[in-house]
Amino acid sequence: MCNEYEECADHVLVDCPYVRKVFEGLSRWCSVNTEDFHTVKDVVDSVSQRGMCHNRRSKILLAVYYGALWSIWKSRNERVFKKNRIPPDKVNDTIKSVTYLWVKNRGKLDKIN
Ligand SMILES: [Zn+2]
Repeated sequence: MCNEYEECADHVLVDCPYVRKVFEGLSRWCSVNTEDFHTVKDVVDSVSQRGMCHNRRSKILLAVYYGALWSIWKSRNERVFKKNRIPPDKVNDTIKSVTYLWVKNRGKLDKIN
């Protein structure tokens, strides 16, 4: 995404400076610390820990993290195949939309707003 490092899963989905900006937005939005995320495993481990929790916030954060990885991957493909660079704040908007739709339509939570 930044064209400065070899494109591997950890760099493209988590550790690229472009993606770090997306995660900074997620940190502000969800009040979570994403500074320790440097690999996909870090994100998955955090998701797994939250998956053990049964409270509403943890369930929504699961969708946020999965939505983040999905949206970052889609923005990477947009850049590679269509030469269209999506700003990090727009990726954050997509994450919010995807998360809302997934939780509202696929989740077992009663209400989300
Ligand atoms: Zn990069």
